[in-house]
Amino acid sequence: MVSVKRAVARVLYGSRFDRVPWGQRVYIRPGERHARELQWRLRLGRAPVMSLDEYRARVPLGEIEEFITCHLCEETRQQPLFQPAERKPGGKKVWTYHVVRCPSCGFLYRNPNVRPERLGDLYAGNYSGFLTGDYAKDRQRRYQLTMDSFDPVFAEGNKRRLFDFGCGAGLFLQLAEQRGFDACGVDLSPDSVALANERLTSATAYFGAPEQVPKIAAGGFEVITLWSVLAHLPRPLDDFTRFRGLLGPGGVLLIFTVNARSLLLKAQGAKWSGFTKNHLMFYSADTLPTLLRRTGFAGVAFEPFYGDTVEAGTAELSGRQSRRLHRAVSGSDGGNMMRALAFADDEAIFRWGAGREVHRFV
Ligand SMILES: [Zn+2]
Repeated sequence: MVSVKRAVARVLYGSRFDRVPWGQRVYIRPGERHARELQWRLRLGRAPVMSLDEYRARVPLGEIEEFITCHLCEETRQQPLFQPAERKPGGKKVWTYHVVRCPSCGFLYRNPNVRPERLGDLYAGNYSGFLTGDYAKDRQRRYQLTMDSFDPVFAEGNKRRLFDFGCGAGLFLQLAEQRGFDACGVDLSPDSVALANERLTSATAYFGAPEQVPKIAAGGFEVITLWSVLAHLPRPLDDFTRFRGLLGPGGVLLIFTVNARSLLLKAQGAKWSGFTKNHLMFYSADTLPTLLRRTGFAGVAFEPFYGDTVEAGTAELSGRQSRRLHRAVSGSDGGNMMRALAFADDEAIFRWGAGREVHRFV
């Protein structure tokens, strides 16, 4: 099926896009952006909107799951959109879930969702084993590119206090300590925390929740980072209220997550790379401000994401293709990943917002 699509695309567009990475082609091929936007509007127009009771009657509920309503605006109606799944070569499902859209605010979320007290079940297996070698190198390059995009926030640590929530095997904490931050982190996976502490010298990783670690619960952080964590949170309002409380005056919160407004989602539907096994909620520049405003932040700024290989300079794009890509991404959805810097207060906007388009909430 995929090869048929590729063959058709080859006939339509010729070979001049062969070197453009897959994730970027949708932005560059003539006319494709508008066709995908139209396809998305048709999909939304066709998908029924139903009450929570009607929805419950249609969709099975797993043992660790619960039905939820929109956490951002409290709308109870449901618009079922996708059923992502991973299948074995024989076709048997390894996992699957249902993704709905809030008909009021457009938020995309998994419903049924995972009950917070069962979240540990998702991370029970040893998933830190592969966080080494090339994976670690690619990940750290990705962190560096995102830190650079918010320059000068991460340029020099100067012993500023940084808290990495969901620190995994400490790949980011390692960069943070190298840059001179006074850094610490927490994670739900004990294996990852052990690996992190082997890797780190001055920074420390802890197992558990922030309030269980006195050094973290004391707050007063200048920077909090959420690397690929936001989509995993089943109670985002509670978590963000806590993060806001942990930030000192002038503090900022960095968010890196999949972008639910991505053109790739519109093109790939249920097969989109953002619909991974453990993702629960899918944010965009349309919906993230609601979460931040409701939890006491003063504003937010976004930076577009052009793709890891494009930003690292290893993708082979012609000058024209590169200009088209930059224009299309920054002028439309912001790319397949979302990069956001949330400001705790006016002082944070004053310190770190210069030269950026800051979306203020008051
Ligand atoms: Zn909503």
